[in-house]
Amino acid sequence: VKVLSDRIGRIEVSATMAITAEALRLKATGINLSDFGAGEPHFETPRHIKDAAIEAINKGFTRYTAVAGVPEVRKAIVDRHKADFGTDYAVDECVFTTGGKLALFNALQVLVDHGDEVILPVPYWVSFKDIIQYAGGVPVFVESKESENFRVTASMIEAAITEKTKCIILNTPSNPSGAVVSKADLEGIVRLAHERGIYVLLDECYVYLSFDGELFSGASFTDCKEHVVVLGSLSKTYAMTGWRAGFALGPKQIIGAMSKLQSQSTSNAASMVQKASIAALMGSQECVSEMRADYIKLRDRILEGFKSIPGLTCTVPQGAFYVYPNISAFIGKGGIKSASDLAAKLLSEAHVVVVPGEAFGTDEHIRLSYAVSADVIDEGVKRIREFLAGLK
Ligand code: PLP
Repeated sequence: VKVLSDRIGRIEVSATMAITAEALRLKATGINLSDFGAGEPHFETPRHIKDAAIEAINKGFTRYTAVAGVPEVRKAIVDRHKADFGTDYAVDECVFTTGGKLALFNALQVLVDHGDEVILPVPYWVSFKDIIQYAGGVPVFVESKESENFRVTASMIEAAITEKTKCIILNTPSNPSGAVVSKADLEGIVRLAHERGIYVLLDECYVYLSFDGELFSGASFTDCKEHVVVLGSLSKTYAMTGWRAGFALGPKQIIGAMSKLQSQSTSNAASMVQKASIAALMGSQECVSEMRADYIKLRDRILEGFKSIPGLTCTVPQGAFYVYPNISAFIGKGGIKSASDLAAKLLSEAHVVVVPGEAFGTDEHIRLSYAVSADVIDEGVKRIREFLAGLK
């Protein structure tokens, strides 16, 4: 008899998680790795955020809460978003989730029926494709051009719309390319969706890690909010990946359905994490600007390092903490047939962890997270340079 459902057969283990597992295995054998694999801040969670969780535990705030999160944490999200982006959500248009990934998962589960199309710009974050497929949806890929800095425009999206289109996923700044959708393009896409009755799922998990000019959210075009769902996360903004703190902001009907789904699955996100999140969102935001300033320095350092590697080219990321260099010059050398081959050899021979572009829908790139120390960047770049120079 068949053990597993068809549903689970539609998805694969997250590629970044698979790489992280292999890297951990090698590390455990005592190998010193230059690890650019995992997409997570190298910073500690700021002290005042940790303290709020400790205080919550000590005061006995350790029980079930409302499924969608306590009103205070939802208000803190709504207020933060309003202060930073001029949006006008009500508390019941917000749900707090066990991580941003769950917000995305639940949003797609409540919006997408079998056969519905979901437009997804390429390169895309690994999980989008699988989560769409798990919901029964069909990803419709829209290729962005590296020569145009992976720009995504309204006309590109418009060309992919059919009568089956239900949603558009936009992730800006982008994991893996670091590309930022310009404010004008974002407005164009949100307006287009609103006119056509299509939902824009805005993955804003890196919204505070945008490096040039003002920060903006696609939810700021408030006259279109009926068709916009913001998916947010505290993971990257406040160096809180392990806490699992995320949220969604959107129309009450959608947020209500997401809460209903949550009521039959995870229930509330951890109570003390909600308290820590209130401290993160309502406390001083200086930690966020400090980390952003550091990421800019690290980005510049790794790009400078890449200049010393003949054949490697790279767009300049405008946000997030990834670089997405083009490695096509090395395909065909040293028996390397693909980005995956190169990533596997970099790991086994040069002890450098990167994620191959195939995971993000392109086959001529590798992704490196530069949320690491300057020393790791310097050593890693040296290893990559030497490894690539040795390819015949
Ligand atoms: N969205 C994007 C684009 C991401 O890169 C990530 C994490 O890597 C997430 C969402 C989910 O973050 P979390 O579930 O930690 O909040």
